[in-house]
Amino acid sequence: MRILLASPRGFCAGVNMAIETLEEALRRFPPPIYVYHEIVHNRWVVSHFTDRGVVFVDDLNVVPAEATLLYSAHGVSPEIRRRAEELRLRTVDATCPLVTKVHREVRRFSDQGFTVLLVGHAGHDEIVGTMGEAPHAIRLIENEEQAEAVTVADPQRVAYSTQTTLSVDDAERIVSRLRRRFPALQGPARDDICYATQNRQEAVRALAAETDLVLVVGSQNSSNSRRLAEIAGAAGIPAYLVDGPEELHEEWFHPDQTVGITAGASAPESLVQGCVNYLRERFQAVVEERVLRQENVHFALPIELRTSRETVPEA
Ligand code: SF4
Repeated sequence: MRILLASPRGFCAGVNMAIETLEEALRRFPPPIYVYHEIVHNRWVVSHFTDRGVVFVDDLNVVPAEATLLYSAHGVSPEIRRRAEELRLRTVDATCPLVTKVHREVRRFSDQGFTVLLVGHAGHDEIVGTMGEAPHAIRLIENEEQAEAVTVADPQRVAYSTQTTLSVDDAERIVSRLRRRFPALQGPARDDICYATQNRQEAVRALAAETDLVLVVGSQNSSNSRRLAEIAGAAGIPAYLVDGPEELHEEWFHPDQTVGITAGASAPESLVQGCVNYLRERFQAVVEERVLRQENVHFALPIELRTSRETVPEA
């Protein structure tokens, strides 16, 4: 068996920053640390922090006044920030800067009186947060049918933005329909689908062309991981989205296969290596890496951690 490992794969700059932020908050502030929604959409990462006393919440009413609250990588709406202030919470904002860019964009469009057609998936934490920036002005577009059906007050003042983790191809199809319907459509100066999503999609597409089967390491609620599995599946080969080696089934594989492995932007490398080891032990697999692009993106810790001098006293 041959394993082709996609590169880039796994953690992106936003996820690295969010995880480092939570690590740093654990070092500096008294427990428990609360996090609004999952810090990143990965089961393993969330349970690793839960085991260390971090409390993940979906409702601020369960957070006691003056506690420490982190906003996850997916961002939050202004209403959540206002509520946190009311509760006098100490907040630390681990929102990915590329999500913040989309928030700024939709605010700017709505301030100028535009209707914003936001292309994304209903209920995803990022979309909920972004829509909260201008609920009166934003319409969610999930698919091409909705792009055909949507109506706006003034077709001369209409703009679009997208979720950062969409399929590049799906988003292009939806946006081109919107353009046909609204020739004056304005869009972001730079792509909203982030560099990490685009690079991982490009890498898995190349990998799928060379392999008999693709494993995507990532959680079911991770949007970018699901897109990777869909892209591999669309190439006509079996593609499995798995949280880690414990979800692999021996009957999926046979010894003369070439197996591609990649990982979503929130999936730790240790789980990728767990899958590699599983195949090495059972099929004597040899590993090659397919490097499509180098990534060199790094985000600084949130300002709250760069300025705070507070530390937890030694026990
Ligand atoms: S996937 Fe993209 S937008 Fe999301 S956290 Fe990573 S870099 Fe940021």
